[in-house]
Amino acid sequence: MIIESLGNLKHNFPDVSICAFTATSTDNVTQDIMDELKLDNPLLLRGKIFRKNLFISAERRISNGYPQLQSFLSRHENESGIIYVSSRKKTEELSSFLNTKGYKSLPYHAGIPNHVREQNFKMFVNDTVNIMVATIAFGMGIDKSDIRFVVHMSLPKSQENYYQEIGRAGRDGEDSEVMLLFNAADMVMQKQFLQQIDNQDYARHLEAKIEGIYKYSTSELCFHKQLAEYFNDELDACKDRCDNCLNTDSARQDISKESQMLLSAIYKTGQNFGKNYIVDILRGSKEQKLLANDADKLSMYGIGTVLSKKEWFIVLERLLELKIILMGEYSTLKLSEDAVKILKSLMSVDIKSSRLDVDKKVKKIKQKEDFDYDEELFEELRSKRTEIANEKGVPAYIIFGDKTLKHLANEKPHNKASMLEVNGVGEKKFQQYGEEFLSVINP
Ligand SMILES: [Zn+2]
Repeated sequence: MIIESLGNLKHNFPDVSICAFTATSTDNVTQDIMDELKLDNPLLLRGKIFRKNLFISAERRISNGYPQLQSFLSRHENESGIIYVSSRKKTEELSSFLNTKGYKSLPYHAGIPNHVREQNFKMFVNDTVNIMVATIAFGMGIDKSDIRFVVHMSLPKSQENYYQEIGRAGRDGEDSEVMLLFNAADMVMQKQFLQQIDNQDYARHLEAKIEGIYKYSTSELCFHKQLAEYFNDELDACKDRCDNCLNTDSARQDISKESQMLLSAIYKTGQNFGKNYIVDILRGSKEQKLLANDADKLSMYGIGTVLSKKEWFIVLERLLELKIILMGEYSTLKLSEDAVKILKSLMSVDIKSSRLDVDKKVKKIKQKEDFDYDEELFEELRSKRTEIANEKGVPAYIIFGDKTLKHLANEKPHNKASMLEVNGVGEKKFQQYGEEFLSVINP
């Protein structure tokens, strides 16, 4: 990372004092810097890693995490904040979603033309808009001291990245809040990117960093303490500046029985399917794909209706994190050796109760539909609707109501005939908008 020629400075200017500065560095990186610069026994000064005006939390993201984000934002009305997402497309989607909910936000990513990006940046710094929905391209060198919150909608690349990104909040020393939303699929996705790296050692190095930040997120230890330890600093638990310290009531519950249901469904279907399919079997879904495969003839078909789809996903996350279930190619679920022990009741599984409560929190702020639907797809359909509404200059509800979009996100029609069967879609509507929505459902 350090330009090698800097190493000559000491030789070429033996009597000149040299100082080196870095924002955050682990012991290894610090040592590298000293070696490269050929510094001889330098004075090492290091600030504390503890940023006590930051309140830190991490939550498992439920599908796109929008309801969790809204509940967070309700505590930060009209305050400045940054929301980090993992792709350019997601900056646009989330920003327009927030704007339809009455927030003032702008997207920011490297693909936006320079002059627009600079304008967005200025509008944020001048408080014309208060929320920036950005990729990690945003924030370097930003000089705005009153950023009150930073949200990560998915897992960052490493604890270094994370620490730098949350460090943009509360530079004025006032209380600020940072929240990280994540799930195990984020880690799988990040690791897939690593396959494009030729240098195996470097790829493994990055992989360890991703695993590190995932472990940080799922751990029940003080977040401040964990970050300090990562940078080889020591810190007592913060007691009241992070969610892990505040929620010491770590009631746990046994989920062995639910785990057995999941594991048998994975086993009986040949370890060839992803999470939606498996959970649909347990919940007795009437999805075409499922019926076509005779999955409704399986003994575990429909035995898991006690848990909602989201609750099943949380149980699944727990099994993935304990490596009882492994994720194979195309996100298919595979069983590990421990899975066999659980199926034979030789091993049990438990979970922090509050993790399953996340669902209840979301339910409170969301109208519950009497059917399950793909929420991520629902949001995509909504943005498509906004796009068409803007284009045609008509109110969004004229195109399709929310209810119809939810039905579409549930039934996922793949052609005209199946789309016409969906509640709220008639021949005329289909002719006007059908194809456009079908292409969102079947990309
Ligand atoms: Zn703490």
